[in-house]
Amino acid sequence: GEGLPRPEQTRVMVVANQKGGVGKTTTTVNLAASLALHGGRVLVVDLDPQGNASTALGVDHHAEVPSIYDVLVDSKPLSDVVQPVPDVEGLFCAPATIDLAGAEIELVSLVARESRLERAIEAYEQPLDYILIDCPPSLGLLTVNALVAGAEVLIPIQCEYYALEGLGQLLRNVDLVRGHLNPKLHVSTILLTMYDGRTRLASQVADEVRSHFGGEVLRTSIPRSVRISEAPSYGQTVLTYDPASSGALSYLEAAREIALKGVGVQYDAQYAHALP
Ligand code: ADP
Ligand code: MG
Repeated sequence: GEGLPRPEQTRVMVVANQKGGVGKTTTTVNLAASLALHGGRVLVVDLDPQGNASTALGVDHHAEVPSIYDVLVDSKPLSDVVQPVPDVEGLFCAPATIDLAGAEIELVSLVARESRLERAIEAYEQPLDYILIDCPPSLGLLTVNALVAGAEVLIPIQCEYYALEGLGQLLRNVDLVRGHLNPKLHVSTILLTMYDGRTRLASQVADEVRSHFGGEVLRTSIPRSVRISEAPSYGQTVLTYDPASSGALSYLEAAREIALKGVGVQYDAQYAHALP
């Protein structure tokens, strides 16, 4: 694909929102694939015991597969569990298996329980432009590990009633982690998802989010698209499932915006359809 400026250092982005069903996993896998198609080297860390990101990327994650559980709980090197994503060059995944559900409890009694993912990432020697971490819909130790490992938080917000509800709790947790464990942590990116430009509600929510967050909100938003929701059942991102669809184009555009912002280059919208 078209090349984009690469970050000087690996950008570790934590995709978080303790609400379920807002588009965390969908955003993680499709943004990761987009960044890879733009020429980047990208690792997805699946930190949700459901393993939806692993499924959507077509990566094997049955119970016996070496996984992020082994990294967090047994200090296995990340390089022992990372798999290449089929059909997308430059894209890799550290899969989640079902035993990750127990990690939330098992981590409690381990040393450096909040920074086990950070240590694993620091020890990983393969060159990467981006690491995207898909968080579970909770603010427990798995999400805390992500917030300690990353510098940037990416919050997907679904354009519906109560979109901002519960965000205060996430933002307070980000502040707590920044204050105690990770001074570089900040909310860098807000992405509006499942945007339906035909409804007044969606544009009202978009306005509300923009007035609340300002410059962190990407100008690109992700439309509601059947192709986006179909792709995971084929073990694919929408980028390979239907590359010409509005969903694919909007994720490519969001990736372009993120990449340009990261190197301080002015973003000019090329894909007007995605803009509310
Ligand atoms: P989360 O990870 O926050 O729980 P998901 O990414 O799994 O949320 O999305 C929740 C549901 O919404 C999934 O069924 C997904 O396929 C669907 N979905 C997400 N984004 C879109 C979109 N832009 N258009 C249509 N369906 C979407
Ligand atoms: Mg999810």
